[in-house]
Amino acid sequence: MSLITVGSVAFDAIETPFGKTDKIIGGAGTYIALSSSYFTNDQKIISVVGDDFPNETLADLKSRGVDIEGIQIKQGEKTFFWSGKYHNDMNSRDTLVTELNVLENFDPIVPDSYQGSDFLMLGNLAPAVQKSVIERLQNRPKLIAMDTMNFWMDIAWDDLMETLKLVDVLIINDEEARQMSKEYSLVRAAKVIMAMGPKYLIIKKGEHGALLFEGEKIFYAPALPLEEVFDPTGAGDTFAGGFIGYLARTGDISFDNMKSAVIAGSAMASFCVEKFGTERLMNLSQDEIYNRIMEFVNLVNFDMEQVM
Ligand code: AMP
Repeated sequence: MSLITVGSVAFDAIETPFGKTDKIIGGAGTYIALSSSYFTNDQKIISVVGDDFPNETLADLKSRGVDIEGIQIKQGEKTFFWSGKYHNDMNSRDTLVTELNVLENFDPIVPDSYQGSDFLMLGNLAPAVQKSVIERLQNRPKLIAMDTMNFWMDIAWDDLMETLKLVDVLIINDEEARQMSKEYSLVRAAKVIMAMGPKYLIIKKGEHGALLFEGEKIFYAPALPLEEVFDPTGAGDTFAGGFIGYLARTGDISFDNMKSAVIAGSAMASFCVEKFGTERLMNLSQDEIYNRIMEFVNLVNFDMEQVM
């Protein structure tokens, strides 16, 4: 089934205890689209870049089956730039630079050929921009998922609440869930957040996996214990791409299938962190992805013949 991804296509500069990069390709939309391209080849992206963005990268996305008609190229303007530095634990980072550039006045265009898509993945952007995409679709997609971050809770709370009412799945991390709900317990936080609109909630807990909630139901997916995490940038977006890509591939939005989608997302995120930036997501094989998903299945699979 068809999928529209909305998100930043950007330049990033990253510093981790393992090294430092100059400007490399990044952006939430890029990570989502790359990740979901392994599950569906009926994907369209909505974004904006400046005239400094390499044509080859756009052509590469296209070669992966991503329709790029919805990427606006602004002549005489610069692409969004983000720079971050990770602490030694690799779980926390400082944002060093955010240059909004073309994102500052981003007015998303939904090409006619994008109308009628089944799935919509709203990457982390201003909630008003996310909402405008929903409003510009003539038919509501079968499922709308959205990501957000603390920054929008701080500066655009009312917009965020309005957009939340329109989506089915919210994907955030534990710190964001606590800030949004003002509850420390994630189970309580989930109840508060689902009352704000989304029927399903995914709370990512970094190296501690992810929780999927619907009403009273909870599913837990671990993160793969990795010997070395090289660069966590984009892991959350890659998770979202694997999740929504898996749903688009299977067309099934039941809670049970969402459990599998969470595993698919976790598997993709585990690849993302193995190299800097998008590098590891560029050349994965279907076999590698299958085997990685089976590692997750084996990690949590056990028999318990005698319970009591
Ligand atoms: P993550 O590590 O999953 O939080 O995603 C990092 C990616 O998000 C980087 O590639 C950045 O280019 C992008 N990013 C960071 N801040 C923003 C922002 N305010 N709006 C849109 N994209 C952003």
